[in-house]
Amino acid sequence: MKSVAIIGAGITGLTAAFYLKRKGVPVTVFEAGARAGGVIQSIRRDSFLAEFGPNTILETSPKISQLVRDLNLESRRLDTSPDAEARFVVRGGRPVAMPSSQLGIFTSKLLSAQAKLALLREPFVTPRSDGKEESVAEFVTRRLNREFLDRMVDALVAGIYAGDPHKLSVRHALPKLFELEQKYGSLIKGQFFGARERKKTGEVAKDRAPKFSFDEGLQVLPDALATQLGDSLKLNTQVTKLLQTKDDWRISTSSSEVEHGAIIYCGTAHRLSELKIESATQLNFSAFSEIRYAPVAGVVLGFRREDVAHSCSGFGMLIPKIEGFKILGTIFSSSLFPNRAPAGHILLSSYVGGERYPELASLPPDELVKLVCEDLRVLLGVRGKPVFQNVALYPKAIPQYNVGYGKFKDLMSEIEAKAAGLFFAGHFRDGVSLGDSIGSGCNIVRRVENFLK
Ligand SMILES: Cc1cc2nc3c(=O)[nH]c(=O)nc-3n(C[C@H](O)[C@H](O)[C@H](O)COP(=O)(O)OP(=O)(O)OC[C@H]3O[C@@H](n4cnc5c(N)ncnc54)[C@H](O)[C@@H]3O)c2cc1C
Repeated sequence: MKSVAIIGAGITGLTAAFYLKRKGVPVTVFEAGARAGGVIQSIRRDSFLAEFGPNTILETSPKISQLVRDLNLESRRLDTSPDAEARFVVRGGRPVAMPSSQLGIFTSKLLSAQAKLALLREPFVTPRSDGKEESVAEFVTRRLNREFLDRMVDALVAGIYAGDPHKLSVRHALPKLFELEQKYGSLIKGQFFGARERKKTGEVAKDRAPKFSFDEGLQVLPDALATQLGDSLKLNTQVTKLLQTKDDWRISTSSSEVEHGAIIYCGTAHRLSELKIESATQLNFSAFSEIRYAPVAGVVLGFRREDVAHSCSGFGMLIPKIEGFKILGTIFSSSLFPNRAPAGHILLSSYVGGERYPELASLPPDELVKLVCEDLRVLLGVRGKPVFQNVALYPKAIPQYNVGYGKFKDLMSEIEAKAAGLFFAGHFRDGVSLGDSIGSGCNIVRRVENFLK
């Protein structure tokens, strides 16, 4: 059987490589960096366990738990503690608990009476039918009201995309929400009727999906995949050029040229635009440089328990821009899983930058820590200095599925149709969550297998 080259050892590329290898397809994974995992990186230092990037996996699809089972990682999997269910959204300078049930929204202090009325009116708002692609902000103000946008949805998209709801496309960035209007004519009706369909497919709504990690953090997952791949994984090996030969693809790296029957590109959109390509038909990757990635700094701080007034019991807090704080949100990491902080301590992971304040993400680490401590002082009553700190900058963290993003997805499909044997998968095609990337890695295996047959 012909071999497959996989470019990028993030969770997408590793998942695709693992399943192809299990099916007996020879694979080689090329990774530019010195480690496997892409943006996933966990470190244990001074008895704290810090995640540089993602913190939890949402188990929205059976494919995710299947991967954990296939890697024999079930005994190392940690589900979030039941105490971590509470989520907070900041209003009036303090974290307010989000209602735990759908009806609870009517008694919550998070929204005014007008916003609650808008919710009651939502099932009667006529769905849009002129085909215009709306931003998340346009969609939410049309179906609900401005307060929902400024108080809830702005905070939510900061948490998922570090994005700007006025730029993000509802169709591409929040496809499930978009589909609810398309299919059921209303978000509220769709919530009820959609549950039946999800039951059939085994899919779970994001707000109900279990969240998990592993005993030594998310890095356990790419490490286990890398172990399975053994010598098939080539670290410190950036792919620089793809050349389509008569029957195959020649892949150039800084140190070698090798031929493979197919290629799966699982890297980033910005690196893709730098890749040279020569093929039978005229192909150009330069348009992918237009995909905007929001810069994000992850600031993980450990404090003595007595130095934090808030219980920090829960998942964390999201902060809408209207509240005027610099941080986008904070995860109460030591409340999620045991063993993230030594006894008598607390670990908080805050994110800075995004599309809201891109310039702040690249501040020097000490300034970032100062800025985060100042916000946490007001929001959570943090008094003392941190006893642990870890600052990680992702200058290009998360792709923004902004209005018009469909042209990039179409371009990928067009290139795949023209250049037989070249495939794209990962966070800039199939969704930005870890679950989406695992799903993307699984789905591409079927397409590549069919092609090789
Ligand atoms: C700060 C942050 C927090 C996040 N939090 C969460 C969270 O809590 N939960 C969640 O579900 N998701 C979260 N995400 C999103 C999620 O982590 C990512 O979308 C997902 O990990 C992307 O995986 P990937 O394999 O598609 O890409 P990546 O992880 O970006 O991996 C791509 C790899 O390709 C390599 N590469 C690129 N070009 C080449 C080349 N030419 N040759 C060789 N190698 C190349 C890169 O070096 C990289 O290692 C977060 C993301 C960030 C940045």
